[in-house]
Amino acid sequence: ARASALASFDGHGRLADGHPVPLLANVATGPDAARAAAAGAEGVGLLRTEFAFLDRDTEPTHAEQVAAYGAVFAHFASKKVVIRTLDAGADKPLPFLTNTDEPNPALGVRGYRTDAASPGVLARQLAAIADAAAAHEADVWVMAPMVSTPEEAAAFTALAHAAGLPVAGVMVEVPSAALTAGHVLAHADFASLGTNDLTQYAMAADRMLGPLAALNDPWQPAVLHLVKATTDGAAAAAAATGTPKPVGVCGESAADPALAVVLAGLGVTTLSMTPRAIPAVAHVLATTTLPQAQHLAALALAAPTADAARTAVRTHLPALA
Ligand code: PEP
Ligand code: MG
Repeated sequence: ARASALASFDGHGRLADGHPVPLLANVATGPDAARAAAAGAEGVGLLRTEFAFLDRDTEPTHAEQVAAYGAVFAHFASKKVVIRTLDAGADKPLPFLTNTDEPNPALGVRGYRTDAASPGVLARQLAAIADAAAAHEADVWVMAPMVSTPEEAAAFTALAHAAGLPVAGVMVEVPSAALTAGHVLAHADFASLGTNDLTQYAMAADRMLGPLAALNDPWQPAVLHLVKATTDGAAAAAAATGTPKPVGVCGESAADPALAVVLAGLGVTTLSMTPRAIPAVAHVLATTTLPQAQHLAALALAAPTADAARTAVRTHLPALA
């Protein structure tokens, strides 16, 4: 039964009552995008742009950037593609941009902080994204990584809009942004939760350290409370501005089918993941209604530990039990 349910995925993520939860893909390159389209992804929820910049001594040219981004957009004509501006830092160093002497790279000048410190690089990247978007039919959304404050959100959104990119948002992967999401989203069109970094920062546990894997678990109830703070803040910002403020997830957590149900129950509107996870996530989402997902989310939030949260939810999901 499971195999046939997987085979019958029709390309639209939704809950059992029809509530849509579009399933998007995390990609970095044109070939990744081709595989994502073949796997049935409804769009791209995270285009990591570091790839165009890696292993180079100099910034890629405008034409090189337009070609790299266009190679992804080309596979998603009329579909949504969320492209993230450069997420560089001492943890992902670029020789022409980063200071690698920082004692705490994860807490250093990375993500939007690098963009803000090198405004020319950011402006040129936004111009290249806008030109690539204009050359393709994709519905291009742009977002900044590692945004921590409403001021950063406002500054980035203004730059992106001025560059001709009408939909501009932020990643929520720092606890401060989650806890102030209402103010952050007053200045941004959407948010995307980066649960890999959000977990690392909530638990103060370096995500690269194997011995800390049990702490780096997105089922940690503290992380789920930050997700809820974000969707609650988005709802408040939507009510205050009269504009919808969608909140997606693009961290690895979206690829865990039981956690995907919890995220939908917490009010997350789209899930972006490695393409090969899409069928299994679609299958489990289709077994629960929105009220059931909200109930499971409440169980997970109330659990004292990550293991208790995971067990409580999986026990109620027959497809996984
Ligand atoms: C995240 O932090 O969850 C995320 C999606 O970004 P990256 O893994 O590229 O840091
Ligand atoms: Mg991140």
